[in-house]
Amino acid sequence: MAEKNLFREIPKMDILLENPELQSLMEKVGRSVVVDQARGCLDELREELKKNPTEETLREGCSNLIPKIIAKISHHKERNLKPVINATGVVLHTNLGRAPLPQEAIKRLASEMGGYMNLEYDLNAGKRGERYSHFEEMICRITGAEAAMAVNNNAAATMLMVSAVGRGKEVIVSRGEQVEIGGKFRIPDIIDQSGAKRVEVGTTNKTHISDYEDKITEDTAALLKVHHSNFKITGFTENVSREDLVELGRKYDVPVIEDLGSGILIDLSKYGYEKEPTVQDSLKAGVDVVSFSGDKLFGGPQAGILVGKKKYIDLCKKHPLTRAMRIDKCSAALLETVWSMYEDEAYAISHIPVLAMLLAPEETLQEKAEYFASKLEGLKKWNADFAIVETQNPAGGGSLPGEVFPGRAIAISSATISPDEMASRLRGANPPVVARIENDELYFEVRTLSYEEMDILSDILLKEYEK
Ligand SMILES: *Cc1c(COP(=O)(O)O)cnc(C)c1O
Repeated sequence: MAEKNLFREIPKMDILLENPELQSLMEKVGRSVVVDQARGCLDELREELKKNPTEETLREGCSNLIPKIIAKISHHKERNLKPVINATGVVLHTNLGRAPLPQEAIKRLASEMGGYMNLEYDLNAGKRGERYSHFEEMICRITGAEAAMAVNNNAAATMLMVSAVGRGKEVIVSRGEQVEIGGKFRIPDIIDQSGAKRVEVGTTNKTHISDYEDKITEDTAALLKVHHSNFKITGFTENVSREDLVELGRKYDVPVIEDLGSGILIDLSKYGYEKEPTVQDSLKAGVDVVSFSGDKLFGGPQAGILVGKKKYIDLCKKHPLTRAMRIDKCSAALLETVWSMYEDEAYAISHIPVLAMLLAPEETLQEKAEYFASKLEGLKKWNADFAIVETQNPAGGGSLPGEVFPGRAIAISSATISPDEMASRLRGANPPVVARIENDELYFEVRTLSYEEMDILSDILLKEYEK
């Protein structure tokens, strides 16, 4: 056949699109997507024919055309944002989306969020309502606060609290609490951005109550306390307690506000860990407004929660910044669900993944590690060795600084594949796996792995070490 005629044999677009498989794909992804990918494949076929103008090229090209288009569409539609297996043991992994959500909350999203909802509609009165009303009463009941609200994240909540309570006047903060938590969040910058005037007292390691008192004037609007979040100051140190700060505030009629960072609701010391001040502790000490994250130790959606005295929460609700930071309907529904799980502490601990993973007893982790190991026997065939090892897991997310939880990992070493090479292959797996390298071995921490994930992961590992 003449070269010209070969090109004429390439199917025309409209004929190609009559293919039933492409027709059904059009319903799923839209006509334009199918046409674009089909055009790309036809162009490629023309290029091949130019290079190699034979009937065989034409025949093969045509018979592969439909599967190729389908594969291209599926690749084109693959999501960049996707689930990954977190084998790092870090429960609040900031780069991996922090808190995984409770099933109960996810089910609600899937079943209820597609349509309309009474987000800002009071069904009793038949008129405009408030988006916080759905969970405010419950938050107050659980924490002992007078009022509550929520915004997009805790950085926003802190900024709003400082701005609303600081009202263009002075906010006093200790130099020992000028925290940077990463991602450009720095307390001094937040105060400056809020419009309040920052007054620093004390030194890096020591701040005394008299340091605060010396700086209180007519212009003082608030005393700010900030959780250290991701570091510890040890040695020759002194820090003013919440109680003392509140007492000082009362004496001069100045409110005390606190950025609690992670904000935990349950007392960790009951479970054998170091005491971490809870949201309730802070309120009980008399702090006027407390801000904390929704997706750190609380274990819910990204959000910033504000609890405290009605007078100040009302200021926050009315503040012009609030609209720019407002919580969306999905997060509001998730928050309501997760708060309701805290009505029973035992239930919260077993059903909120962050708490369940963090407080998993060592025996449970050992059992998981043994199960995982039992699925990896096949690795030995491929020159890879593995063992259950005792490890220590930080909580992550800039919470519980210095605290580690005894963990269990499977450590894999291979004579033929370097840990870096394997870690990179695992990141490219489906689903991607994020593991940790230590002592030239790959570590897979079971704390953050479900049984289902261990099944998937063991299949991936057997396949990758076989290559
Ligand atoms: C994490 C943290 C924040 C920021 O919270 P996001 O929810 O990430 O915005 C603010 N302050 C402290 C002390 C924190 O630990």
